[in-house]
Amino acid sequence: MTLKKQTLLVTGGAGYIGSHTVLALLEAGHEVVVLDNLSNSSPQSLARVARLAGRAPVFIEGDIRDDTVTRALFARYSIDAVLHFAGLKAVGESVREPLRYYDNNVAGSLALCQAMAAAGVFSLVFSSSATVYGEVAQMPISETTPTGRPSNPYGRSKLMVEELLADLAQSDPRWRIGVLRYFNPVGAHASGSIGEDPNGIPNNLLPYITQVAVGKLAQLTVFGDDYPTPDGTGVRDYIHVVDLAAGHLQALNALQTRSGWQVWNLGTGQGYSVLEMVHAFEAASGQAVPYRIAARRAGDVAQCWSDPAKAEQELGWCARRGLPEMMADAWRWQSANPQGYGGD
Ligand code: NAD
Ligand code: UDP
Repeated sequence: MTLKKQTLLVTGGAGYIGSHTVLALLEAGHEVVVLDNLSNSSPQSLARVARLAGRAPVFIEGDIRDDTVTRALFARYSIDAVLHFAGLKAVGESVREPLRYYDNNVAGSLALCQAMAAAGVFSLVFSSSATVYGEVAQMPISETTPTGRPSNPYGRSKLMVEELLADLAQSDPRWRIGVLRYFNPVGAHASGSIGEDPNGIPNNLLPYITQVAVGKLAQLTVFGDDYPTPDGTGVRDYIHVVDLAAGHLQALNALQTRSGWQVWNLGTGQGYSVLEMVHAFEAASGQAVPYRIAARRAGDVAQCWSDPAKAEQELGWCARRGLPEMMADAWRWQSANPQGYGGD
C-alpha cells in the first residue's frame, strides 16, 4: 500500500536526521510542518531542504514542551501524524545535566503526546536508539532482544519514552505508534548541501573523522584497541542517513494498517570497527586521518549491530547504501561546508 498524501508534524525537523526526513517527505508529496526550538540546529538546514525539494516546509520555531505553541499548531494545521525527532542526544552532557535531559526528552515527549491526544492525533513515529538494548552478549540485536539498562541518562530517557508510549498504546486503541531504534546514523544527502553540523567538538566518530580531514581537528582519538573484536576497536552498525529517512516513510506507511505499539530496528545488519571506518574514509576521500589509540571511553559497548529483518519483512525497507557511499557523502558535505551551516 502506498501512503496517501498527509500533513505531517516533524518535531526536531531542522536537525540532522529530521532535515533529511523532511526532504524525503516533501519529495514524496506530503505537507510538512516543522516544530523546532533550534537549540541544536540552524534554520539554514530547512532553507537548503526547500531549495532541494523545490518547496518549503512550514517552520514554527518553538518548544515541544510549550503547550501554547503545540495547541495553536494542532488547531491551525490538520495534522495526520507526528514524526518526533526533537530531543537532546549528547551522552556525556546527559551525565552532567540529567535534569535537562529528562525534561527535554521525557517531559517533552509527554507534553507532545498530551497535545496530540487533545487534538485527536494518534499516529506517532518516535526516534529511539539502539542504546536501549544496553550491553548485549549475542550479536546481531533483534527486536526480541530484551532492552537492557542503558549506561547513561540519555539512553535511559529513550527507554522511558518507549515505555511511556507502550503504556499509552495499551490504554487506548486509537494510538498507532512506531518506535524506530536507530543504529549509528552517518553520511549526508548526496547533494552535499545538508548534513550533520555538531556544536563544538563532535562526540560521534564520523563527524570527528571528517573534521580531522578538513583540518579543523589535529587527530582522531580511537577509544580503546583492546575490545574483544577482530582488530580490538569498537564495532558499530553505521547506517546512511538517507536510508534512515526512507525508513520513516515506510514506518508511516505501516502505521496505516497497524495499530498499537510497534518497534523496528533501523540498521544495515553489518558491523564495522573504528579502524575500518578510518580506512574506508581515507579510501573514499583521499585524505589521511592521523589517529592515536587511547583508553576506552566510559559507557561504550564493545560491539553493536542490528538484525534488520523485521523492518524488511514488515516495512519493506532495507538500507541500500554501503560504507563507500556513506563516506563519500559525509566528505562531500564536510568539504563543501567546513563551518557547517555557520558558513552561510
Ligand atoms: P539533532 O540534535 O540534529 O536534532 C534534534 C533537533 O531537535 C534539533 O534541531 C533541536 O534543535 C531540536 N530540539 C531539541 N529539543 C527540542 C525541544 N524541546 N523542542 C523543539 N525542538 C527541540 O539530532 P539528530 O541526530 O537529528 O537526532 C534526532 C533524534 O534521533 C533525537 O531524538 C536523537 O536522540 C535520535 N537519535 C539520534 C542518533 C544519532 O546518532 N544522531 C542515534 C539514535 C537516536
Ligand atoms: N569513537 C572513537 N573516537 C571518537 C568517537 C568515537 O574511537 O572520537 C568510537 C567509539 O568508542 C565507538 C564508535 O567510535 O566504538 C562509535 O562511537 P559514536 O560516539 O559515533 O557512537 P555510539 O557510541 O553512540 O555507538
